[in-house]
Amino acid sequence: MPAQKAKSFKLTYATMFDPPAEMHTRYEAAVGKTKAELGLEVSMIIGGKEVKSTDKFEHRSPINRDWVLAVFQKGTAEHARQALAAARKAFPAWSHTPWRERVRLLRKAADLMDKRIYEFGAVMSLEVGKNRSEALGDCAESADLIRYACDQMVANKGYVVRMGKDPLKGYTASNVSVLRPYGVWVVISPFNFPCALTTGPAGAALVAGNTIVMKPATNTPWTVRLIAECFRDAGLPDGVFNYVTGPGSTIGQELIENAEVDGITFTGSFDVGMGIFRTFANGRYVRPAILELGGKNPAIVSRHADLDRAVRGIVRSAFGLQGQKCSAASRVFVEKPVYNKLVERLVAETEKLGIGDPTRKEVFLGPVINQSSYQDYKSFCEELSQSGRFLTGGKVLAQGEMAKGFFCQPTLVGDLPLNHRLWKHEMFLPITTVASVSNLDEAMREANDVNYGLTAGFYGSDDETEWFFDKIEAGVSYANRPQGATTGAWPGFQPFGGWKGSGSSGKNAGGVYYLPIYMHEQIRTLIR
Ligand code: NDP
Repeated sequence: MPAQKAKSFKLTYATMFDPPAEMHTRYEAAVGKTKAELGLEVSMIIGGKEVKSTDKFEHRSPINRDWVLAVFQKGTAEHARQALAAARKAFPAWSHTPWRERVRLLRKAADLMDKRIYEFGAVMSLEVGKNRSEALGDCAESADLIRYACDQMVANKGYVVRMGKDPLKGYTASNVSVLRPYGVWVVISPFNFPCALTTGPAGAALVAGNTIVMKPATNTPWTVRLIAECFRDAGLPDGVFNYVTGPGSTIGQELIENAEVDGITFTGSFDVGMGIFRTFANGRYVRPAILELGGKNPAIVSRHADLDRAVRGIVRSAFGLQGQKCSAASRVFVEKPVYNKLVERLVAETEKLGIGDPTRKEVFLGPVINQSSYQDYKSFCEELSQSGRFLTGGKVLAQGEMAKGFFCQPTLVGDLPLNHRLWKHEMFLPITTVASVSNLDEAMREANDVNYGLTAGFYGSDDETEWFFDKIEAGVSYANRPQGATTGAWPGFQPFGGWKGSGSSGKNAGGVYYLPIYMHEQIRTLIR
């Protein structure tokens, strides 16, 4: 089928819940093909060469631990150094490649991702446990993130701006502001959006003229290998995008300690991110560190809310990708007059969600990512059972096709005292706590009383939405949105980033202010 067919409709997080039949048949064919070819060994790519390590690791699926998806390289600190050297070597030529040419190559890479979108989707379902819409949505967004960075470069004409001419008698002055790349940029991504959280930072860093060393999460190296292939096949010169795999504690640690690094984008948990920030600060001078960290995202429901919208939006955001989104709706504050009605409907909708192998069409929730998350789910449920009340869920599932994976019931908890620690701790699982509040001011106080400030949702009247946008401490806020109370981002539509402990740059990826943070400014004053 021609590649353009894949784009005959626009897949976004808002539209993906009602896709055409063609999406299903092509995705299912890709899953079949991918499953028939499991178990191959996959190399790193350093300086354009396929590189193997002495040690390997088996990459197993969270859907069924018997499925060895592929065998990946356990890269070492030495591989990190080789990749940084390759990126350093490639930097002079890449940074001096005319920006229009960089844009051309990167747009080609985005088109290659589109062509392979169903393969990407199948791989992501198998390695992350995403359902088909989530998996394909991540890939489509990823290609658009690259394009958006290119569009911004074009719209800003390469960020070359003529400034004022100093009025110097007897001379002619010219002042030009130029944004220039930093050099070698490290990108470290988390498991939950292996595609978008690689191409978002990498697309911006590359179009700006930096070269990259990319380390994916150990749970999701495969998707990122496909991205590396798209950059390579688009014609990016050797060493411009280097792909290394292995544990964060070894190869990742070297990447953040090495003085060869000029900038870093880390997306992941607060604790690891803060550790990276502190380590990175030990360099010879201050270098840019873009940190995109966790969330503890509130949804507030007013007594004037359209409850149909609220229920749809909250369930989708609480349990999409098994609650393992940085933007998951993990806290719900409901005004007392509508609390019982809302809870009753949330429970009913949650209990309708299909759970199982996420490559099946009717399944909404796949497994959680690994043994450690599975164990966390059990521990949190035990803790919650002592202080709160399960409105629904609370158990792991192991019957039938779920026997060998990490499946957990979507869980809503009520009656949890508002001073309980789990109101503030990011569980990153399909667990959402729900509280009744006496008024919206109380809801807002609770909503903001966390270290995080990533996303937030609101359901209420038009007047109240203005109040919500003004008061809420979050980088991404949504009102009256049935497509997702707290989730959903798209370059050029909903740029994504966090305040407070959720992000360091104060600028959202996929937005108009993002690309410049990958460049430093140089003023060029010339007197004739
Ligand atoms: P982690 O923080 O556990 O890991 C993220 C990445 O950091 C992985 O690639 C990991 O490698 C690597 N890493 C771990 N230790 C080190 C180290 N010492 N040096 C360098 N790299 C290291 O996060 P998860 O993968 O579990 O992702 C979930 C978290 O990410 C949640 O907190 C979520 O909220 C956040 N997130 C934030 C987003 C945002 O935009 N703000 C978006 C998506 C997720 P390895 O896997 O090998 O350990």
